[in-house]
Amino acid sequence: MNTNGVNETDVVVVGGGPGGSTLATLVAMRGHRVVLLEKEKFPRYQIGESLLPSTVHGICRLTGVADQLAKAGFTKKRGGTMRWGATPEPWTFAFSVSPKITGETSHAYQVERSKFDQILLDHAREVGVDVREQHTVTNVIDSRGRVSGVSYVDAAGNEGTILAQYVVDASGNKSRIFQQAGATRKYSEFFRSLALFGYYEGGKRLAEPNSGNILCCAFDSGWFWYIPLSPTLTSVGAVVRQDLASKIKGDPEEALTTLIAECPMISDYLRGAKRVTEGPYGELRVRKDYSYANTKFWRPGMALVGDSACFVDPIFSSGVHLATYGALLAARSINSVLAQAVDEETAFREFERRYRREYGVFYEFLVSFYDMHVDENSYFWSAKKVTESTSTDLESFVTLVGGVSSSEETLAQRYKDRSSEFAKAVDELVANKEQSMVPLMRSAIVKQAMREGAKEQARVLPGLDLELEAPVFEGGLVATPDGLSWSLPA
Ligand SMILES: Cc1cc2nc3c(=O)[nH]c(=O)nc-3n(C[C@H](O)[C@H](O)[C@H](O)COP(=O)(O)OP(=O)(O)OC[C@H]3O[C@@H](n4cnc5c(N)ncnc54)[C@H](O)[C@@H]3O)c2cc1C
Repeated sequence: MNTNGVNETDVVVVGGGPGGSTLATLVAMRGHRVVLLEKEKFPRYQIGESLLPSTVHGICRLTGVADQLAKAGFTKKRGGTMRWGATPEPWTFAFSVSPKITGETSHAYQVERSKFDQILLDHAREVGVDVREQHTVTNVIDSRGRVSGVSYVDAAGNEGTILAQYVVDASGNKSRIFQQAGATRKYSEFFRSLALFGYYEGGKRLAEPNSGNILCCAFDSGWFWYIPLSPTLTSVGAVVRQDLASKIKGDPEEALTTLIAECPMISDYLRGAKRVTEGPYGELRVRKDYSYANTKFWRPGMALVGDSACFVDPIFSSGVHLATYGALLAARSINSVLAQAVDEETAFREFERRYRREYGVFYEFLVSFYDMHVDENSYFWSAKKVTESTSTDLESFVTLVGGVSSSEETLAQRYKDRSSEFAKAVDELVANKEQSMVPLMRSAIVKQAMREGAKEQARVLPGLDLELEAPVFEGGLVATPDGLSWSLPA
């Protein structure tokens, strides 16, 4: 027995971010014993504040935390406003098909992650997860070819070991243990950028009904995000490509001020605003090399979810979506194997294939998004040119996603077709004064990016019969009607 009195459980989850707490909750909901070890004492700072509707109304409804989120007072995000692409005017996409339709699920939230992550972690506790903060996992235990537990050290320096049937690494981009799944991290050649970010009080807001939107604004060196976290607090970040890294070296305050001055719209929005200089938002932070996917997402006894497994560029706010979606897939696999309903190889193959596919969908969508710019000379998306390759995006896509069935040539053509179709859809959107989302929703690349999220949202709507869901892959599995496990297709 260790100092905490428990040394054996069904599942150990490493990390209490959205990936870890979602997985832990979904496994505990099936009655399994789950211990979650989190290095920090919550609330703790994290970047990744702009969410997608599928997280809020799909996965968080399934875990049972959606109502608490609705009451937490987060800014409602109806969509995004972009100064991006050929048109100099900003354009807006809404999660609802028309601005006149504002259904219950046509919004997401902009969240202070310290509060959002705390709500998810507390909810995991409420459903029976044994959450232990200030417990740092130091190692993974291996026995007879499978992962069988972890070692940790707590805040007082006590060391312990927990044996489990499954270890889930959800310890984020700085994970020290993802290699234990036999994985190597492959960084994207295309999305090689750096972000410098901080917080402002008193910035301007978009006109209603878009005041809660994320604002993304392209400029010569890259693009800015501008996320309204409260009526007065704004998260502001500059993303610059790697060959301009010198722009964010040296004094960060000076660097951010210079970058803001390069972008007229952000300068205008921050006129009169004050940078927060105290507390958790007082620091200017830098992140780099953050787009990657691992070569493997699981091995017997261990699975990787969230940033521990993969992440791609923040422009479309897909990080928390991918983390919670990966958690859902892994939870289904664990629940199915523990119930002896499906064998481990089949269950985790389904997890990895679906997860990789969703990652690939976002990767492809984002490449199209960067591609729709006309002025190749001045923009960030000339990354291809910088790396002096005509197919860098494609190569990295193939390497990262792996297991994609199409040949490279077919993929290259698909990229081209989809990028131009997407650019046309945006032009139509801009031209149409009503700002109906129909042209965007018709575009194959947008439809594909929204598909899995929409499916998970639909699953939790009462009265829908999803029993006849078809497998995503030939010979693959389908989700059980409650969404918590896999079963063989009928
Ligand atoms: C510049 C930038 C901007 C972004 N913007 C967005 C955005 O707008 N929207 C969005 O959805 N995503 C965004 N993201 C991505 C988002 O931050 C991540 O995808 C998301 O936080 C991943 O969640 P997670 O649960 O996998 O990991 P995390 O949120 O990183 O949680 C991991 C947890 O594990 C804990 N931990 C680490 N090591 C150990 C250990 N050894 N033992 C125990 N615990 C440990 C950590 O303390 C942490 O709490 C952005 C990312 C970047 C780099």
